[in-house]
Amino acid sequence: MKRLTTLTLIIPLLFCTSWGFFAHRRINQLAIFTLPPPMIGFYKLGHNYLVEHAVDPDKRRYIDTLEAPRHYLDVENYETDIDSIPQSYNEALAKYGLKKLNENGIVPWQIQRTYFRLITAFKTHDSLKILKYSAELGHYVGDAHVPLHTTNNHNGQLTNQVGIHAFWESRLPELFSGEYDLVVGQAHYIENPLKKAWEIVKHAHGLLDTVLDFEAKLNQRFRSDQKYAFSIKGNIITKQYSIAYSRAYQEAMNGMVEKQMRHAILTIGSFWYSAWIDAGQPVLKNLIQMPLDDEEKKATTLMEKKYHQGKIIGREN
Ligand SMILES: [Zn+2]
Repeated sequence: MKRLTTLTLIIPLLFCTSWGFFAHRRINQLAIFTLPPPMIGFYKLGHNYLVEHAVDPDKRRYIDTLEAPRHYLDVENYETDIDSIPQSYNEALAKYGLKKLNENGIVPWQIQRTYFRLITAFKTHDSLKILKYSAELGHYVGDAHVPLHTTNNHNGQLTNQVGIHAFWESRLPELFSGEYDLVVGQAHYIENPLKKAWEIVKHAHGLLDTVLDFEAKLNQRFRSDQKYAFSIKGNIITKQYSIAYSRAYQEAMNGMVEKQMRHAILTIGSFWYSAWIDAGQPVLKNLIQMPLDDEEKKATTLMEKKYHQGKIIGREN
């Protein structure tokens, strides 16, 4: 066996990118197939864009200090009872102030905001913006389905479970989503997008105890050398939750990750569909493609550059 030198890097693959890039892309991709005939042709043409840009909001965290809180809501930092948090942004702003909102997360309001941007894009027949805001809405709705995006214990750091975030939302779908049934049926109209966003967050928050407790119990059953697996590529060793441990976690939670992925796919398709209805059902053929203006081009180039340099501004998940 090759001897490892002191230069060998050990990289724990336990960091988070919110649902993981893999799952975000898969969720956006599958949401296309929930759409009705007047929409599906356009979305199929935009397939590559919707998949590739499913993770733009995560990349934007590398250039924009205001981006990180758009992906989560630390419920306990607002109230002990989630129902006491005002659902409307203006009421929440009046109650908590902007600083507190920006520190503790705004995902339900970000979903609402992105939804309105998508309606405007439909109304102006701007094909690129329709794809952009569809991709981003998919991202935020996806994030709101992740229980660890609804808590200040977002990476298990308060319960000695560091790494659980990426374990739940990246490792499990990467290993097992091939076994999931992700055919979810047809998109439906959402009467009240903000109310829907809150329902998603509340449901995800309700799953949190199971997510944490089951991993803690499993941790007692597995020795450390059974819990983690190492792989070596060149001079790089990666540390990862073992397949046996991942399988046991997945089974203990009785399909939770699959159910959350299924619900995210159907809900994203339904948000896209509802925005199109609210925009007056524009015909999605022969749309204009407005070129990016200089400012948008510059922002995109900078985002990719900073992302590849790899330093998130603000917290990771
Ligand atoms: Zn995210």
